[in-house]
Amino acid sequence: MNYSDLAPSYIRAIAPYQPGKPISELERELGITGIVKLASNENPLGASSAAIAAMQEAIKTIALYPDGNGFELKDALVKRYGVTHANVILGNGSNDLLELAARAFLAPGDRVIYSAHAFAVYALATQAVGATGISVPATPDYGHDLTAMLAAAIEHSPKMIFIANPNNPTGTFLSAEALQSFMRQLPKQILVVLDEAYNEYLPEDKRYDSVAWLKQFHNLIISRTFSKAYGLAGLRVGYALAHEQITDMMNRVRQPFNVNSVAQAAAVAALRDTSFVKKTFELNQRGMTQITDGLSKMGLKYIPSFGNFIAFHVGNANGVYRRLLELGVIVRPIGNYDMPDWLRVSIGLESENAKFLSALEKALGQQLNGESK
Ligand SMILES: *Cc1c(COP(=O)(O)O)cnc(C)c1O
Repeated sequence: MNYSDLAPSYIRAIAPYQPGKPISELERELGITGIVKLASNENPLGASSAAIAAMQEAIKTIALYPDGNGFELKDALVKRYGVTHANVILGNGSNDLLELAARAFLAPGDRVIYSAHAFAVYALATQAVGATGISVPATPDYGHDLTAMLAAAIEHSPKMIFIANPNNPTGTFLSAEALQSFMRQLPKQILVVLDEAYNEYLPEDKRYDSVAWLKQFHNLIISRTFSKAYGLAGLRVGYALAHEQITDMMNRVRQPFNVNSVAQAAAVAALRDTSFVKKTFELNQRGMTQITDGLSKMGLKYIPSFGNFIAFHVGNANGVYRRLLELGVIVRPIGNYDMPDWLRVSIGLESENAKFLSALEKALGQQLNGESK
């Protein structure tokens, strides 16, 4: 008997998520060290020392179950954002929250809208509950086409829409005005999950207060994470802010202890360490300039990015990806995002960015030589 046949057809249809290659795996394969991983949009500075100290303290009581209600972390978020405890739900990474939203509200046959080239988890969360995903073509510059998404919403009456701002892997950004106008025109029974995983990386003139919109748009779910600018990707902690009727339903399908105690403690400390986030932001700004300058010098096209990563066009992306691996640099192919000619690189430390750029130059040179033979 084939046990996969026991799974519903919509589960069998799921293409597994492809994570960035771990450093340890490439070390084993190549037998080299000093590998630079710029593949998963992690914080090159690591985590804030305050968060690390909080983890060390929390380890002492690791025999105890975590606070299943996450009071202290929620309280810190409540004070930061001026919402109530009932508006906050914690997740085992923000991926968990995207899935909780899908599991709480979607049933087989429901429709869900997201953009082409949008974060892969939206399609995965949709498929896992047997709902039908509708991918709306992007704008010519790879951004979400909110006009087309609104038209698709009117046509297909979805129950949920996922929007990433900025989006991964394209780095594209939607202005506050565009988002608000979209929300105003959208029928109120359609839930909007606004994924702001890279919110902390937005330049000052692009920042906006989406949390304030919750008062006006009760169908809005904002998700954020400690994995990116806060440097806690390995811990798995994120949060969503939404109307209490929404968090109530999401809490009903949530594992009682979905966020571990060490993660809760670290997140509280990380949230307070605003200088670490500022340092991270500034490093990213400089690194983005370093990388875009380097790409331009090589004559490579890229999509201007508002996150801590950038997608660039190389043609033979898989070949270049493999040559970069051999040179000890891990980036991310994004063929599974319908961008087979592109690679995505995360912004690292200045030295890591430099190593990436020189490896890329070498890889492209090798490619030209290889082609002329
Ligand atoms: C990285 C990322 C997330 C966050 O993942 P976590 O589960 O919080 O680690 C969410 N959305 C987007 C668009 C991302 O790129």
